[in-house]
Amino acid sequence: MKVTPPSYIPDGHCGYCKDSKLDHYALESESRRRAGFGGLVKESMTIGMSIWEMTCQEYDELINKGFRRSGTFLYKNDLLRSCCRLYTIRTNFLHFQISKKQRKIVNKFINAICPLASELSPLAKNTFDLGRLIEAILKSKDFYTKFEPSSFSREKFELYKRYQVRVHNDDPDDVDEESFIRFLCNTPFSGNEVQGKPQDWENLKIENWPKNKSAGTDYCRQSKRIGPTHECYYLHGKLIAISVLDFLPSGISSIYFIWDPDYAYLSLGTISGIKEIQMCNELEYDWYYLGYYVEDCPKMKYKDQFGGEILDLCTETYYPLAEVRKFIQNGRLFVIGEADRGNKGGGEGEKGGGEFFMPDNQYPNEGHVKDGFTNVAEKLYGSCDVEIIANKAGNELANKYSVSRTNQYNLPNVIPGVFPLPQILYWFQSGALDSDFETRLLIGGRSKKVKFSQLSDEGKGLIIDCIRLFGIERMKQVVLVF
Ligand SMILES: [Zn+2]
Repeated sequence: MKVTPPSYIPDGHCGYCKDSKLDHYALESESRRRAGFGGLVKESMTIGMSIWEMTCQEYDELINKGFRRSGTFLYKNDLLRSCCRLYTIRTNFLHFQISKKQRKIVNKFINAICPLASELSPLAKNTFDLGRLIEAILKSKDFYTKFEPSSFSREKFELYKRYQVRVHNDDPDDVDEESFIRFLCNTPFSGNEVQGKPQDWENLKIENWPKNKSAGTDYCRQSKRIGPTHECYYLHGKLIAISVLDFLPSGISSIYFIWDPDYAYLSLGTISGIKEIQMCNELEYDWYYLGYYVEDCPKMKYKDQFGGEILDLCTETYYPLAEVRKFIQNGRLFVIGEADRGNKGGGEGEKGGGEFFMPDNQYPNEGHVKDGFTNVAEKLYGSCDVEIIANKAGNELANKYSVSRTNQYNLPNVIPGVFPLPQILYWFQSGALDSDFETRLLIGGRSKKVKFSQLSDEGKGLIIDCIRLFGIERMKQVVLVF
């Protein structure tokens, strides 16, 4: 993985609520203010970096640590300080229960693309079969979709522009080809992953989905698309929508969906979501990643119509949305933990960061909020303790190991969902990190390995920020680009 050093970026304003929030506290009470986390925040705080090179496998693992990509920019949100909290959300066929409203949309769509809907399999009374949507697409003479690499075309750009201007009220002068390419065509993935193999593309075609075939399901495992993809929707030969997707080992990640405002009556956003959940099921991708969910943002509300789970960044566990909804209401911060154990986060005498250090496993767990567990964000981040302990660890890292972290782009001392400073200190004390720790750097196109002891104090601070984000093991695979 080749990345530029991470930066902590105050965005100046918040694009989700358009700075309209009156209450910007992460936590329920006033204790956050008392804890010295500052006053009202009316902006989005982002940790971001440019990616020069990355595999889909690496990106998949990072998605499950709360990152997302926009083109070749990789970022995650500071969940403590941003006024709108971006929670990673995923779902699948088992979590999805179609609503009455969605059924109506599907039926309307079927009737629009397949006027002889009576030719489809008869619908038993009082049941609803999602298979009819796929059947209708297959039998339709007017509608089809086409999967292809995430490449630029004039036709795609024109549709994108129409969508941005009419649906998002963008200024037409701001919507240019470069921004479209940067946002929806460029990727950090290799040419092989971008192009894919002919058989992988063949398998994506709806007519080849296993349940339409007698071939059985072994078939799709042999040749499974992994890579960035555009699914183009055509009606009467005209491009009417584009679904921008990343096919990843653990699931299909939805990046963006563009639709022609003239076809708003078809509710194509909903249709694409349902179809993609079905595609995950048919082609054996475990999860459908819908990106970020912002609980109190009306524009994001549609995502919870697909059911699913929300990622608790601190414990790296996904919890069913229905179980944690009460904790995140009004956009609050949530961390699930044992109710009666007090504030152990960053506690001394424990393994450095206490029980809330970020586990360095490949994929997070699935969980349920067990009895006796509740939202402990308040206990963890609402008191001064967490800040005091982190500052102390930061000072010790500076004094004993010459780690300077005073640059404006350094991560704050306390930030949810990254390895805490006490954990880093513990790694030094236990020998997991030492002055021989090697980092690969790419400076002016030339690659070299540098030991921790050879770095400037500021350079050490930079490496520590990377380790806080990625963990020790992953950091060994990272090349930092300057
Ligand atoms: Zn906001």
